[in-house]
Amino acid sequence: MPAFPAAAREAVHDDTLRANLRHATHTIRDKRARAVTELADWDRLREAGRAVKDHTIRHLDHYLLRLEEAVTAAGGTVHWAADAAEANRIVTGLVLATGEREVVKVKSMATQEIGLNEALEAAGIAAYETDLAELIVQLGDDRPSHILVPAIHRNRGEIRDIFRTRMGDWGRPAPEDLDDTPAALAEAARLHLREKFLRAKVAVSGANFMVAETGTMVVLESEGNGRMCLTLPETLISVVGIEKVIPTFRDLEIFLQTLPRSSTAERMNPYTTMWTGLGPSKGADGDGPSAFHLVLLDNGRTDTLADEVGRQALRCIRCSACLNVCPVYERAGGHAYGSVYPGPIGAILSPQLRGTASEIDATLPYASTLCGACYEVCPVAIDIPEVLVHLRERVVQGGPVTREGLRVRIRPAAGHTAERAAMRAARLLLDHPGALRRAERVLARTRRFRPHRLPGAAGRAWTETRDLPPVPAESFRDWWTRERGGTR
Ligand code: SF4
Repeated sequence: MPAFPAAAREAVHDDTLRANLRHATHTIRDKRARAVTELADWDRLREAGRAVKDHTIRHLDHYLLRLEEAVTAAGGTVHWAADAAEANRIVTGLVLATGEREVVKVKSMATQEIGLNEALEAAGIAAYETDLAELIVQLGDDRPSHILVPAIHRNRGEIRDIFRTRMGDWGRPAPEDLDDTPAALAEAARLHLREKFLRAKVAVSGANFMVAETGTMVVLESEGNGRMCLTLPETLISVVGIEKVIPTFRDLEIFLQTLPRSSTAERMNPYTTMWTGLGPSKGADGDGPSAFHLVLLDNGRTDTLADEVGRQALRCIRCSACLNVCPVYERAGGHAYGSVYPGPIGAILSPQLRGTASEIDATLPYASTLCGACYEVCPVAIDIPEVLVHLRERVVQGGPVTREGLRVRIRPAAGHTAERAAMRAARLLLDHPGALRRAERVLARTRRFRPHRLPGAAGRAWTETRDLPPVPAESFRDWWTRERGGTR
């Protein structure tokens, strides 16, 4: 997988991709803006969401232990996974122990993050995605490109072709005369998936929230496929990032308002499924799974928590609003980020979860114009531009970070020499007001000779697409001294 600049350069030349993305992101961002303005207390809801999430991640150890206690008391089993390999080992072992060789899945970014489908396949277990967009991605041997709409880069014609050519390889084939109307495509998917739901004995899910107080798991979705996965199979395994815990059931009132409006622009999402361990009805009427396992996934989250600026990324409720307003995402698409989490949130979350050692992760903090649109729409007020700048500093300067619980010092990433030299020169000048004044005067007097392009490879690359700002004839300090005599 190439790093972001190379991947994005290729993506922006794909006219179909750009048209599909533009249509989808503009439609949903306009609808979201209308849905949000309907609520007079949106700003207070946003602040409440931020406060609840901040409080929870500051006391994460306490709330996770409380959650474990509540889930266990309700008949569930909790497993702790420090990293992807451990999580995959746990889930694969649990599935094999049931004697089954296939599972149905309801959309879970955590399982994509750890590469669970590949681990299951290696163990001889087939995993069937049941979310419609995930199904399209799986049938097309593709990768998700959006948090909420993983097949956003596909149009209806492409989806029809994928259904026609690939559905038969995975189960019930699509009708020969399938057209590309939404109703026909949905019906083909429904018939294909029904077979899977009725046969599967094991399901794997994620969760949007975990309530520490009661041990309740919460899944929000639009199609009802999730509810089928969560209720029909005999064994349910949920793989959830540890940051998804919230303290009390009452806290849900905030997120059940902000998440649907931010993600699909709906006042409430069509299906909200909640379950607590095995539930009180188990044994009485046989409803729901007879075994429930919760795999709590760390995989870099406690390391992220150690970073005072970057930890705010753990507030994310995966609504995808930031993707839909991002001018970079709109043109480059999700695949260019080389990460399960694309767009602005991916640009700050992936380099923290995975570290900045690889070229892909070192380029992600630069996959933004820093326009701030992502911060404005974020329902939990994550200051994404602030974290981007913080991570850029880490990439350019290196410095102390926490990796696998240990404080280590990382070296600067390769290829930022010019940027580092420019920043050092700027710091030197800003630390010495006299030198800054002299430099400003020299610049002002020589402004006629100002070049339009900077020299050197890095300078040329920087000014290839940017204008150098004009140099004023007089610096602000000189103007101030002349106008006000240097007094306040
Ligand atoms: S960062 Fe904010 S806007 Fe983006 S997906 Fe997360 S919660 Fe939504």
